[in-house]
Parts: sequence; C-alpha cells; structure tokens
Amino acid sequence: MTLVDVILPLPLKPTFTYAVDDDMALKVKRGCRVVVPFGKKKHYTGIVDRVHHEAPEGYEVKYAFALLEEQPVVLPQQMKLWEWIADYYICARGDVYNAAMPAGLKLEFKPKVETHVRLAADYRTEEALRQVLDSLKRADKQQDLLLTYLHLSAFFEGGPYEVSKQDLLAHHNTSLAVFDALVKKGVLDTYPYVISRLLEEERQVTGLKPLNANQQRALIEINLCFEKQSVCLLYGVTSSGKTEIYTHLIEETIRQGKQVLYLLPEIALTTQITERLKRVFGSQIGIYHSRFSDSERVEIWNKQLSDNPYHIILGARSSVFLPFQNLGLVIVDEEHDSSYKQQDPAPRYHARNTALMLASMYGAKTLLGTATPSVESWYNATEAGKYGLVTLKERYQEIQLPEIIPVDIKELHRKKMMYGHFSPLLKEKIEEALTRKEQVILFQNRRGFAPMIECHDCGWVPRCVHCDVSLTYHKHTNQLVCHYCGYTTIVPHTCPECGSKDLRDRGFGTEKVEDEIRELFPQARVARMDLDTTRSKTAHEQIINDFEKVKTDILIGTQMVSKGLDFDHVHLVGILNADTMLNYPDFRAYERAYQLMAQVSGRAGRKGGQGLVVLQTGHVDYPIIKNVMNNDFEAMVHDQLAERQVCHFPPFYRLVYIYLKHHQQRLTESMTAQMTAQLIKVFGEGRVNGPMQPAVARVHSLHIGMIMVKIEATASFAQARKLLLQVEQLMRQDTRFKSLQVYYDVDPV
Ligand code: ADP
Ligand code: ZN
Ligand code: ZN
Repeated sequence: MTLVDVILPLPLKPTFTYAVDDDMALKVKRGCRVVVPFGKKKHYTGIVDRVHHEAPEGYEVKYAFALLEEQPVVLPQQMKLWEWIADYYICARGDVYNAAMPAGLKLEFKPKVETHVRLAADYRTEEALRQVLDSLKRADKQQDLLLTYLHLSAFFEGGPYEVSKQDLLAHHNTSLAVFDALVKKGVLDTYPYVISRLLEEERQVTGLKPLNANQQRALIEINLCFEKQSVCLLYGVTSSGKTEIYTHLIEETIRQGKQVLYLLPEIALTTQITERLKRVFGSQIGIYHSRFSDSERVEIWNKQLSDNPYHIILGARSSVFLPFQNLGLVIVDEEHDSSYKQQDPAPRYHARNTALMLASMYGAKTLLGTATPSVESWYNATEAGKYGLVTLKERYQEIQLPEIIPVDIKELHRKKMMYGHFSPLLKEKIEEALTRKEQVILFQNRRGFAPMIECHDCGWVPRCVHCDVSLTYHKHTNQLVCHYCGYTTIVPHTCPECGSKDLRDRGFGTEKVEDEIRELFPQARVARMDLDTTRSKTAHEQIINDFEKVKTDILIGTQMVSKGLDFDHVHLVGILNADTMLNYPDFRAYERAYQLMAQVSGRAGRKGGQGLVVLQTGHVDYPIIKNVMNNDFEAMVHDQLAERQVCHFPPFYRLVYIYLKHHQQRLTESMTAQMTAQLIKVFGEGRVNGPMQPAVARVHSLHIGMIMVKIEATASFAQARKLLLQVEQLMRQDTRFKSLQVYYDVDPV
C-alpha cells in the first residue's frame, strides 16, 4: 500500500498519513496537493510531504480523495523552507502552509472564466449572414439579438467577432431562451474564455542608468564579496543610489538566466520602486504582496511554476514563500526595518532571516541594503565576519547630507512659545519652504502613543472592554477604536466617572498635526499618510503620486514617510517629537530612534542642494541626538553593541518570548509562574526572565502571561528549542495547562 504524509492547514501535528489508490500512487509526488477527509465531515486540501510504504500501527488510515495535479505546486526548496520556519520559529507546519499559500490554492482553484460568443464559422460571409437574418424574420427577438451581436462585435468593421455572453445579454435585455435558441440553431457558438488578472502593460524600456564612480566601486566590491561570501551588507547613506546599484546587479543576474527576489518592508514603498524597475525591466517583473486579491496571488504563484515565470519578483514579506525555479539573487532593501517581522498570527517569521535561508537553499547570493543597518547585521558584517561589508558614504551628485538643527521643545513649552506642536523655528522654516514652492515632510512617530480622549476634571480615559489598552480617538468619524481587537464605540457626551462635559483630546497623532497645519498654513495643500489613510490597495499610491507631482505641499506621516521614498522637491523635514521614540521601553529603542530619524532626514535635499531637518525634542543633550545630528551611525552602533553585550541582548544572545493566554487571570498567572520556575530549572536563572509584564496584559478578553528566555548566540539553538518544547510537554501533564494557549516568539523585534 502506498501512503502519503500530508501537511494540513491546521496547527496540530506536523503531518497526517493517508493511503492513496493505485492510480494515484503512480502520479503522486512531494509538493502535490491532495484532498483528504478529516474528522467526520470535513475535508482539506493538503500538501504531500512524503510518499512511502510504512503503514502506521494502531490505526487505520483513510484514503485520500483526489490528487489535484501531477506537477508539484510547492517546490522541494520551498518544502525545506517550510520545515525550517516551523522548526526555527517553533510553530506548526500547518501555520506555515497557511501563511505561505494563497487561499485559492488551498481549495480547488478555478481560473476566472467567462463564456464568450461568436458567429458560427458557416455564417461569416455576407451572403450566408443575409440568409440567416432572413430566416429569422418570424423570430423577431432572435433577429434582434443577432443584430446586437453584430454591432457589439464590430462585425462589419473587421472584428474582434467575439463578445462576452454577459455583455451581449446585458445590452440586449432579452431572455436566456432567445439566446439559447440561436445557439441551438448553430448560428452562435459559445466557448469558455480564461481571463488573466495580471495586467501586462506595455511600456517603454529605457535601459540602465550608468553608475557614477562611487557606485561603480561599490558594485565591484559587492561582486568581489560574492566570490567569497554569500551575504553582503551594503551600507550606503540615503540617496547614495543603492537602488541604481541593485538594478545593475539584477540585470547581471537575469542575464545569467537566474531569478531575483527583491524584498521591501512596506507595501507603500513598492509603488516608487516598481515604477523605477519597470522602466528598466518592463514585463519581466512581477509584484506580490498581501494587498493583492487572492486570485491575483494564485495566478502569480502558478506563473512562477510555469515555463514562463517572472525573472524578478518585487514584494513584501510574504513573497519569500513564492516558488522560484532558479533563484540567483535576493535583495533585502531597508534590511533594518522591523516590519519584516510578522507579529501575529504564527508563523512569527522574520522575512529578512527567512530570505537568507531561502537564498542558501538555492545557493543564491543575498544583498542586504540600508543607510542604517540593524545592530545584528552590522555585527555580522563586522566583528563576526559572517557577511561582507560594502560602504557608500557619498550621496549621488555629491549633495551634502541635510543639516540637522535640534530644537529644545521642553524649554519652549515652559516659556509658552510653542504653536501647538510647532516650534517657532519649524513654523518659520515651513513658511519659507511654502513661499519658495518647496515641499515639506513632517514626521510624527506613533508607536505606543495614540490620540486619546481624557476627562479634564477627573482624568478618566476610555478603555477597551476586551483589552488592557486605552481607546484611540478617531476624529473624522468621532469614534473610539481599539487598535488591538477592533472594538469601536462613540465618544460619550459626558464623563461616565464624574459627569463632566469637559472631555478633551490628549496626545497627538498625525490627525491632530494635520488640523494644526491647516490652521497655521491655511493656503498649504496637506496630505496625511498613516495606517488609517492607506487601508485600500491603492491609497498610498495616490498619496505618493500626488506628492511626487507636487499636487500637495506638506506630507504628514508616521513611519511610512521615513522609508526609502525618493522625492525631488523636499528641502525641509520636520521631526515633531523625538521623545516618544527615545522613551520607548525596549532594548531596541535607541537603535530604532536613530534609524527612524536618520531615514526620515534622508528624505530632505535629495536633488538640488543640501536639505534641512528640524528635530524637536526635550532631550537635546542626549548622545543619541548628537549621533543623529552628526550622521554618526558608527558611534551609535558601537554604544549599542557595548550595552547589549553587558546586558545579554541580541546579537550576543537570542531571545524567545513565551506567551500564555487564558480567559482566567488567576490560571494564566499561576501557570506562567510555574513555567518560569520550570524553565529556570532547565536553563538556569540567568537565562530566564519572568513572569514579565507584556506591553498589553489583556487582548480579546484573554489574559496574557509572558516569559523571556535568553540563549547565548554561540550555543546550539536547536538544542535550546528542544528543551523549550520539553518544558512545555512537562507542563501539559497538568490538565489545567491544556486549556491554555501557548506560543513562542523567536527573535522578537
Ligand atoms: P538610495 O536608494 O540610496 O536612497 P536612490 O537609488 O533612490 O538612493 O537614488 C537617489 C536619487 O538619485 C534617485 O532619484 C536616483 O534616480 C538618482 N540616482 C542615483 N544614482 C544615479 C545614477 N547613477 N544615474 C542617474 N540617477 C541616479
Ligand atoms: Zn470625569
Ligand atoms: Zn480591544
């Protein structure tokens, strides 16, 4: 009997075993989809992991219903990658399967098919056509329908001769019976017509831009590095032309007949880069990200399996899961960016690290590019010697990096000299920019700092009923929203605690800044880019296009405006308040703050002269602010590495957060305490931190317990994961533990 081990989209066992009949046994291979029964009524589409003859003992295997194709839809390297992700990030293979494949492939995928109609071949002469129209004289409606067809298909103007059945019926407003009669008489033919959702635009291809001397040198160094090492970090200041260097590397790679994966951390970034790459590579490039409809994603997946795959895939996080037949190069742009890490749900994978693994499975090279390397990658490229390092310190056309002026807002607030959140200097510089018809970018960090409503009399703040967080105030809809669970309610008229009518908004998000700007500069055209204004697939594209075409003067935004965007007319950048970044309770706070400030500053003065950054903070004397002003990344990273070594943090230690969730607070607490004790027994006191206070202690009405485990980077992490799972198993002997949700976040960001 032939058996198959199948991965199902369930967070349970790694694989499930089924029998296949003789016919299927001849065809089935690893990576093919099979439909299998599960439980009493359900069936799932699973992926075959292994074909074998080892009948399991102790239970009777069921038969798989159907094999969906003979050629695998998941390639061997992908199967290996799935396995690696499940192991490394301590999750089920079913979770990886769920994240990796578009839903359409988990069911039976049907291409989008329309019925098309054309005149039967026998009637395509004038003579024959006249005869048939004549013969229909007594069937008015049929004659009418035929005439409508002739009109719609532009029959007498030379074609296309065919129309969709739906269009025809819509135009003619007739019954299906009339249509069917003509088909039955053999006058009209119908046939299925498969529509591609992938738009193949024709566009002018312009070829590569020649590199300048510095870029040329960097490219040579990267290629030299790739002769010895498989990973290279390109540390190039903002606007040094990293994207142009990538373009040359891509061209070389596809000339060798190999494929390229180009990863970006943020969908909002794909717009500009797509345009730039399409000008050079035309239709050889495919775009892939989660905002695409599922059926579009299925089509790209299938195209990558076909004889005619895209040579280049440009995409966000999830494009590491696409099938590649011959991957030669991976580019991870803005490699430092934390949005490469998936937070929820499992698999909680880091797309940069996963891409490195993917590349190694194909023997491909990886280029990590950024103006502000992550502390980890910098360490790997310097002290650890794992990666090559190529540096590019000059901007294209030798434009100076922007001048950064710090402004002490603590002092100004005290002297009541602020205009809302704008210092006199920033206000003046914005005025100047507007008169000179230059554009302005304003950056407001949002993490851990959202606009709220507060009672001015008693200090009451509305909170989510399901989660331990305050609700965010959305002014345009006058609603209070929980950003964790989506709970929404209207703003009350009076304070439920003290009855006061004096409810004020507190804190400020980008929306508040927008209001202030409109008041201070009524003539300016303002756009805002944040999570709320970019929910639809094309919203960010619109905002970026408008700003590019100078249809807006001031762009306000969160993290999104700090990343990789390239605008020609921005001279001034304002950082409204650096302190929220500096005060963030996380060991990466300074690293993050530096990256964000350096990146957003990098948007200033990219063309036509040095730019200016006004940096508002209450901590002008902090070394990190000096580092940003002096563009001294190396000083920042040097300090951070020293601190991390002393405090046992990455890159010297690997972190794993363990989360426990349950409706009952007491149970969560006692189990977290017990598990902490158990972990200390196994790993030793120094490696376990717990129970910890998670950033949010309750979400979706579930109480959360958290434990941190630290493992030396030099120790075997595989062994550590094994021990972690052993501890979990031991805990599961306590029946109360069984009702708990337990999951791991490996290498949290
Ligand atoms: P980075 O990715 O390092 O921030 P970009 O690749 O976006 O830098 O380059 C900044 C700007 O300079 C872009 O508008 C780009 O088109 C232009 N540029 C860079 N290098 C060249 C080159 N060799 N030839 C023409 N334009 C270039
Ligand atoms: Zn009150
Ligand atoms: Zn909530």
